[in-house]
Amino acid sequence: MDDRNPQSPSSPEKSSREILWTVDRTFQGWTCSQCEWNYPLPTLLSDPEAKTAYDRLAAANFRNHDCADHRPRMASTRGESFTLRIRKLVAHGYKPKDAVELMIQEVAMESPNQPKILTQAKAEGEDFLRRLKAGLI
Ligand SMILES: [Zn+2]
Repeated sequence: MDDRNPQSPSSPEKSSREILWTVDRTFQGWTCSQCEWNYPLPTLLSDPEAKTAYDRLAAANFRNHDCADHRPRMASTRGESFTLRIRKLVAHGYKPKDAVELMIQEVAMESPNQPKILTQAKAEGEDFLRRLKAGLI
């Protein structure tokens, strides 16, 4: 019952849910790994500082939301984001910058002649490093 201490690493309830960056054809923004809570990215946002401010708001909102107030997340309704792939690489011991590079190389091999997908992967890589620098993740 340490809801007031979301930073606590020893809290099993808190570690079971994660804020996830999700991108698909109809949605771009933050989601919860456990429920349908989401925080869509406003389309007019292009300035990096504005994006960081948005990320901070999303993180605060995420901490305050109660999964019980939202519908449970439906499994695999959304594809794996490039950001999740970067995070997995980082979890395997890659430096964030190397992880981003590797993910982009993988995407380039998986999706040849699909510049849109590659552009998206690069944009997510940049966002990932920006958030890391801002201390958001
Ligand atoms: Zn939730």
